[in-house]
Amino acid sequence: MLIEPAAGGLYCAAGGFHIDPWEPVDRAVISHAHGDHLRYGSRSYLCADAGRQLVAHRLGEASRVESVPYGQAVDIAGVRVSFHPAGHILGSAQVRVEHRGEVWVASGDYKRLTDPTCIPFEAVRCHTFITEATFALPLFTWDPPSTTVDEICAWWDEMRAAARPAVIFGYALGKAQRILGELARCSDRPVFVHGALVDLTEIYRASGVALPPIQRATETAKGKSFAGELIVAPLSARGSTWMRRFGDHSSAFASGWMRIRGARRRRGYDRGFALSDHADWPGILQTIDDTGAERVFVTHGYTHQLTRYLAERGLDAHAWQTRYEGEPESSE
Ligand SMILES: [Zn+2]
Ligand SMILES: [Zn+2]
Repeated sequence: MLIEPAAGGLYCAAGGFHIDPWEPVDRAVISHAHGDHLRYGSRSYLCADAGRQLVAHRLGEASRVESVPYGQAVDIAGVRVSFHPAGHILGSAQVRVEHRGEVWVASGDYKRLTDPTCIPFEAVRCHTFITEATFALPLFTWDPPSTTVDEICAWWDEMRAAARPAVIFGYALGKAQRILGELARCSDRPVFVHGALVDLTEIYRASGVALPPIQRATETAKGKSFAGELIVAPLSARGSTWMRRFGDHSSAFASGWMRIRGARRRRGYDRGFALSDHADWPGILQTIDDTGAERVFVTHGYTHQLTRYLAERGLDAHAWQTRYEGEPESSE
């Protein structure tokens, strides 16, 4: 086995490195900057150039972070390692590992639909594919992003007409910036944000992603009315005192989980938008097919459902126990 789940994370013994380790290790190869894939304390980190700023920002100054462009191979103790776009968030990568003619690809998290904030997913041929399964059930199929974005824009228009603030919640890294990037299509008005989103959003902007102007909701005149304004907030802000300034507002959640019937109501949102940064069921199956892999390991999400489905179709498929978490359902 070129890569296997060890105590600290997915380990490549031939190269002496871990991919997205959950314990501190000597050499960490990182797919992307989400907290469940990027943890503190390793001696060195290697990621794709496009993700370097986010990785360095999340780890802090003291960490050693090296990066290479997408597609450029690095030799680690005779093992060829390269990063390929995963389409998940800015700088996200699949990790391709080649040793003695054998090719493995670890997907990290990925999606197949378009996203104005990152480079599209690129299928990479391999013998063994390591995939996530966050939304690996047939009920999860995404509409084209333009449809979902039209719904978000229509909701904002509606709130503007009703003079009510429109507060949309999403994951602080990736989803929030994607919402902003998508909104650039229907408006050039400034969007108000929670302070936790500012640095991350400015890293996206500095990387060349077109985003509308943002303003901290706290940096407004006391008593400012947010009537008809759009506010993007992380899940952690929900129910906090920060929310008080908006008074009577409409709330929405942008997440793949909104595809489940009743999920929006159970969580108490006025609106739900099924906008996900993970592949849907057809996207996962298409991707496995595109890789040409004969063997598949499944790391997180609906691992057993996906493994069973693939095995029934003749693939050598197995679930792995990892500490990756998938798309948060409530707070971060
Ligand atoms: Zn992720
Ligand atoms: Zn993940």
